[in-house]
Amino acid sequence: MSDANYPIRGACQCGGVQYQLLSAPKMVVACHCKECQKLSTSAFSITAVIDKEQLVIEGELADWQRGSDSGNVAAAKFCVTCGNRIYHFDPAKPDLIKLKPSTLDDTSIIQPTAHVWVSEKQDWFEIPEGVAVFQGQP
Ligand SMILES: [Zn+2]
Ligand SMILES: [Zn+2]
Repeated sequence: MSDANYPIRGACQCGGVQYQLLSAPKMVVACHCKECQKLSTSAFSITAVIDKEQLVIEGELADWQRGSDSGNVAAAKFCVTCGNRIYHFDPAKPDLIKLKPSTLDDTSIIQPTAHVWVSEKQDWFEIPEGVAVFQGQP
């Protein structure tokens, strides 16, 4: 992920929400939990962990939140028109953003170095070599 050119632009599927990621994420994580399977409509979701200052957003976002088993609140921001999920955050730690990086124009930075909730992963998915693996929440 080192040779990407920042800022990288991103947008939801309809283009109503546009954003810029100003610098490299702290970490990119794949989560295999059942909630992330629903969220991503796929086998897992990918999250880029960034500081709030690394993100500049334009466009109208809607909110939704849920509790998690750990007692934390997972809050989500998504496009009001197409519903594409842009980022998640914990309202108790609003300066830390969990960007959904598949909305970036340059997705080459999406290389998870950790896989979490592997206990709930789909059987056919093989975890790549050389990444950190966690059965649940690290
Ligand atoms: Zn949209
Ligand atoms: Zn998850």
